[in-house]
Amino acid sequence: MSGFTLAIHGGAGTILKNDMTPELERAYLEGLQQALQAGFAVLEQEGSAVNAVKAAIVILEDNVLFNAGRGSVFTKKGVQEMDAAIMDGSTLEAGSVAGVRNVRNPIELAEEVMRNSNHVFLSGKGANDFAIKQGIKLEPDEYFFSQFRYDQWKDIRDSDNYSLDHTHQRLEELMKDKKFGTVGATACDKNGNIAAATSTGGMTNKKYGRIGDSPLIGCGTYANNRTCAISCTGHGEMFIRAVAAHDVSCLMEYKGYTLQQAMDMVVNEKLVSIQGEGGMIGVDALGNSALIFNSLGMYRGVKSSDGTEYVAIYK
Ligand code: ASP
Repeated sequence: MSGFTLAIHGGAGTILKNDMTPELERAYLEGLQQALQAGFAVLEQEGSAVNAVKAAIVILEDNVLFNAGRGSVFTKKGVQEMDAAIMDGSTLEAGSVAGVRNVRNPIELAEEVMRNSNHVFLSGKGANDFAIKQGIKLEPDEYFFSQFRYDQWKDIRDSDNYSLDHTHQRLEELMKDKKFGTVGATACDKNGNIAAATSTGGMTNKKYGRIGDSPLIGCGTYANNRTCAISCTGHGEMFIRAVAAHDVSCLMEYKGYTLQQAMDMVVNEKLVSIQGEGGMIGVDALGNSALIFNSLGMYRGVKSSDGTEYVAIYK
């Protein structure tokens, strides 16, 4: 039996204590704690890493504070289009969806793609048709609505600007003050199998069917028992260009880096060199974990069979 562990994130960026009320801070920490408990309980009961990451993500998708599932940001057209991915490191099976609407838990649809389709990645209306055929739970638009995200979008909907989650400044300002609210989870179970999952509403005012790194296997999400399970959050375009999650795996496989060394190299050197702000969480098949970000904060938490347990927001 190996050590088992769960790491989660709820987005990274310019998250400052000064911008936060004590109530909001408490609500975020509670949300993270609930997700951590739900995922860890699966691992304790001999559940698989895949089931653990899914359990944690569902809690975060249902929490309106995070930009995934309920509470997702609005697109240019004023609707919510969500992306999600899940990968099983023991089989290298993966499932992703992009631009789906009205799906209560996009991560469940991603898992359905992984388990019950001949494909890895479905998008848009086709993905929604698949959701209906498979009996995945749908909700009306109102379910996903949050006043906060709506006001944020209203501020920029008449412009060509798009914004990373909580921000609503012009693009130049945006680059100085970024916050992201995507959610992710990585787990190592009692059998030493690992898995990763990521879910997001993407960017406020996004258009032309923009898709970020989150549902792209190897960019925002990746898992392989030989190396690591990774879930990213940050400015998706840069994470795609860096093929960030798979690069961590390559550094471990081909260069013999530890999880910590590989993640540090990708987050603090490779992504920084292309102004890729954000972070990632990871586990390996021995149950080691790492949570690394180059931004001022990342909503995050970890719980492990070795007794490690915390949730945190700031650097
Ligand atoms: N990476 C996500 C995207 O670009 C955003 C985030 O992490 O909040 O869609």
